[in-house]
Amino acid sequence: MLANKTALVTGSTSGIGLGIAKALARQGANIVLNGFGDAEGPQAEIAALGVQVAYHGADMSKPSDIEDMMKFAADRFGRVDILVNNAGIQHVARVEDFPVERWDAVIAINLSSAFHATRLALPAMRAANWGRIINVASVHGLVASAEKSAYVAAKHGVVGLTKVTALENATTGVTCNAICPGWVLTPLVQKQVDAKAAALGLSNEDAKKQLLGEKEPSMQFTTPEELGELAVFFCSPAGANVRGVAWNMDGGWVAQ
Ligand code: NAD
Repeated sequence: MLANKTALVTGSTSGIGLGIAKALARQGANIVLNGFGDAEGPQAEIAALGVQVAYHGADMSKPSDIEDMMKFAADRFGRVDILVNNAGIQHVARVEDFPVERWDAVIAINLSSAFHATRLALPAMRAANWGRIINVASVHGLVASAEKSAYVAAKHGVVGLTKVTALENATTGVTCNAICPGWVLTPLVQKQVDAKAAALGLSNEDAKKQLLGEKEPSMQFTTPEELGELAVFFCSPAGANVRGVAWNMDGGWVAQ
C-alpha cells in the first residue's frame, strides 16, 4: 500500500518509533530512522522487510540538526511523504522541584521538534498534494498526571499543533493526526517501573501491575505493533478524511 512512499520516523531506534517504522515498512514504505543508541540493529530489522532504509542521528532538541535531517531525507529519497513525530523523553518531579534544564529539554524534544519537522516537511507534501503527519502524543495530551508538568504541557501542545496543522491543510491531500498511547512497555516506561519497584520494594512484575492498576483499566500494556497498525490506518485510503484527531489507544485510561 505504501510502495514508493518515504516515511521519516523520529526517535525510531527504540520502542514505539521502531514499531511504527516496521509497520510502515511492512506496507512497502522506505524508512528514514532517527534516534540515539544502536542504529545498526534497527536498520537491519527494517532492511529485512525488503525496503530501503537510511539513518540520520539528528538531536531533536536542535532545530539546525532537524533541518539537516530533513535535507538528508529529501536528498536520499526525493521527498518525505509520511512524517512521524515520535521522539520523546520524560522527567518526573513536582513543579517546584522541576529542574529548569529538564523542562527546556522535554519541551524542545517532545513539542518543538514536531513543529520544526512539520514546517520543513509541509512544502513538499503540499506540492505533491499527498502527505501524512502523525504525531505521537500520549494520553498525557488529553489528561494529566502529577509530577509530569513538562511532559503533560508538551503533549497537550502536540495535540494542539496537530489540530492546527490539520486545519491549515484541510482542503489538501495532507492530513495530520495524533496517536495517544497509554502505558507501553518501552525503555521510557521501564525506567518508571524500576523507580516504583525501588521506592516501594516491589518486584518488577508487581511494580508493573501497580503502574497499570493506577491508570489502565485493561491491565495490559499497549504494544508498539498495535500503535504501528494505527499509523498504517492513518496512511491508508480510508484515512484520507481523518483530520486533526487525537486517537487514544490506552486500555480505557481516558474513558474513566
Ligand atoms: P523510548 O525511550 O523507547 O524511545 C524514544 C526514542 O526517542 C529513542 O529512539 C531515543 O533515542 C529517541 N530520542 C530521545 N531523545 C532524542 C533526541 N534528543 N533526539 C533524537 N532522538 C531522541 O520511548 P518510547 O516509549 O518509545 O517513546 C516514544 C514516544 O511515545 C515519545 O514521544 C513518548 O512520549 C510517547 N509515549 C510513550 C508512552 C509509553 O508508555 N512508552 C506512552 C505515551 C506516549
